[in-house]
Amino acid sequence: MNLLAPYASLITLLLAFLLGMVVSYLLYRRHLLAIVNRRLPTATNTGFKVNSQDNVASLKKLNENLAASTRSLQAKEVELSLANQRLEKLEEAKSKFVAVTTHQLRTPLAAIKWTLHMLTAGQLGAVTPEQKTFIDKAFESTERIVSIVNNLLTVDKIEAESSDYTFIPVHLEEVVESVIFELKAPAQSKYLNLIFKPLAQPLPEVTADPIKLRMVLENLIDNAIKYTPQHGTVTVTLDDSRLNATPASVVVKVQDTGLGIKPADEGKIFQKFFRAESAVAMEPDGTGLGLYLAKDIIEHHGGTIWFDSGSGGTTFTFTLPLRPVVV
Ligand code: ADP
Repeated sequence: MNLLAPYASLITLLLAFLLGMVVSYLLYRRHLLAIVNRRLPTATNTGFKVNSQDNVASLKKLNENLAASTRSLQAKEVELSLANQRLEKLEEAKSKFVAVTTHQLRTPLAAIKWTLHMLTAGQLGAVTPEQKTFIDKAFESTERIVSIVNNLLTVDKIEAESSDYTFIPVHLEEVVESVIFELKAPAQSKYLNLIFKPLAQPLPEVTADPIKLRMVLENLIDNAIKYTPQHGTVTVTLDDSRLNATPASVVVKVQDTGLGIKPADEGKIFQKFFRAESAVAMEPDGTGLGLYLAKDIIEHHGGTIWFDSGSGGTTFTFTLPLRPVVV
């Protein structure tokens, strides 16, 4: 002990220094931790519950909500598929109704047509000119009903995607001539000039469905007659300028001097059931199905259809490939 006595004050000083160092280190560490804590977002800052029990409860709630949403989605899915089934059944019923009624109508209509034809031709006894005028009007109206019935039937087939096409070689000139002959009477009753301009050289045969092609021509020429005021002109022209094009096609134009199509209506003309106001005013009877059908039929042959219209009238043009182009 005596040996350390001379160093006692030195040792005390050393111990005091060490103690000071430890205390300042602890203070400094506390200060640093405080800074870090202030800068880092804490769980409570970010909205998370620090408490793990709270966390479990929120997750449970979230899970319950998810399960409820899934159940309601599944219920909606079942509801939708039931509604779809009901729609399919309705669509089927509508198709059957249209098919049955139109077929049922066609036979008596054909009988009425032929009776009127026999009457007007004098085969059932002489008729006065006045009587003939009335019988002719009845005949025309019957023709119109037949055409509406045929359009309805074809549209229904298109929609049921059961439209069947029979492509055979067709002389286009013959089909045009036959349609013009059929529509002569309604044109004459409006004092219209109905002109057919065939080419000097006969066109090559086209491979087409003649019944469907006839419907297109009937609709276009009938429209030209319907929407042209009295004393106007309807001209049907054949054009061979695209015979060397790809695909080799013939072009048919139906031009009239009628009321024309307003620019605002241009985009709607080929839509199902569309009828312009001016057309309804001029010809109240109509279905708005003729052009929709015509477009579908021409496109089934690989052709295209369009129109140009102005104050001087309207021209509908379609191309018909010599051989149907698969589209
Ligand atoms: P619908 O003649 O029975 O009304 P369409 O489908 O044949 O039905 O024609 C649709 C509409 O297109 C017609 O209602 C008419 O507004 C317009 N349209 C068709 N052809 C002509 C035409 N040649 N001139 C003027 N408008 C026409």
